[in-house]
Amino acid sequence: MKKIKSIVTGGAGFIGSNLVDRLVKEGHKVIVLDNFVSGKKRNLSHHLKKNVKIFKLDISKKLKFDKYFKGANYVFHLAGLAEIVPSIKNPKKYFINNTLGTLNMLEAARKVKVDKFIYAASSSCYGSPKKIPTSETEKIDTKHPYAFTKFLGEEAVMNYAIFFGMHNISCRFFNVYGPRLNTTSQYGAVFSNFLTQKKKNKPLTIVGNGKQTRDFIHIDDLTNAFIKLSKSNLKNKIYNLGSGKETSINQIVNIIGGKKIFIPRRPGDPNRSCANIQKIQRDINWKPEISIKEGIQRLFNN
Ligand code: UDP
Repeated sequence: MKKIKSIVTGGAGFIGSNLVDRLVKEGHKVIVLDNFVSGKKRNLSHHLKKNVKIFKLDISKKLKFDKYFKGANYVFHLAGLAEIVPSIKNPKKYFINNTLGTLNMLEAARKVKVDKFIYAASSSCYGSPKKIPTSETEKIDTKHPYAFTKFLGEEAVMNYAIFFGMHNISCRFFNVYGPRLNTTSQYGAVFSNFLTQKKKNKPLTIVGNGKQTRDFIHIDDLTNAFIKLSKSNLKNKIYNLGSGKETSINQIVNIIGGKKIFIPRRPGDPNRSCANIQKIQRDINWKPEISIKEGIQRLFNN
């Protein structure tokens, strides 16, 4: 039987490389496109060349992508620039990478007629939402260039589904955590910072009073959802992808334990965030299985 061919853009990053692991387990042949700005070779070094082919390239450049996409069944488009603060410093760079990059991937996928195109959108599109848990119908309120460029990417994905009948799905990620989180960036995600701090025996940095909440979804729950989405007949859909549970920074610090210090609030840092995940639960019969406590134990005992 012919192997399923999957393209993973940003496949050398935290989320991408975990997805590649899962796809290989499913028996797919995987093509990774990554510019290795935040992605790392070592995230994929355990794979055999025959299962995973890696190409170092920039998806926002005017390149011929067709040769990589030929014969592809699924595209998982995860490549993009993350983080809010740098996006405010350099909005155009974010626009080119996140929006134009997405358009290039859509064009390539359209030409070769892939079965499914799944896009990693961001829950940051809701800004500071009125309703929590927040459903997909909540008002869009992009408060910084990162949120704006990821949302524009989603608009392109949905419009291509309408214009060209593509089977496109956009998943609005909440706070994803798990092994291979990028621990080197200046404005690191909370778990990246806590992992580094714990390793160096430094106090955990709590921003503000630590009462702010997020919806943390474990990477294995997220990749499970992706597999189910790719196998489904769904198209032209937007889904929240979170755990549906709200956890404060103080709760996380208490689970991890040890010393802590308080540091100033970040610009645009929302007080609360939690996904309403009824839509995706209903449509693909999926539910998150890893509690925050178990996820933290797995991450810190590694
Ligand atoms: N945060 C924290 N300590 C850190 C890093 C982040 O308390 O060392 C807080 C941050 O202010 C935010 C939450 O943790 O309220 C999640 O931050 P992250 O950057 O991981 O995600 P985002 O803010 O983009 O949801």
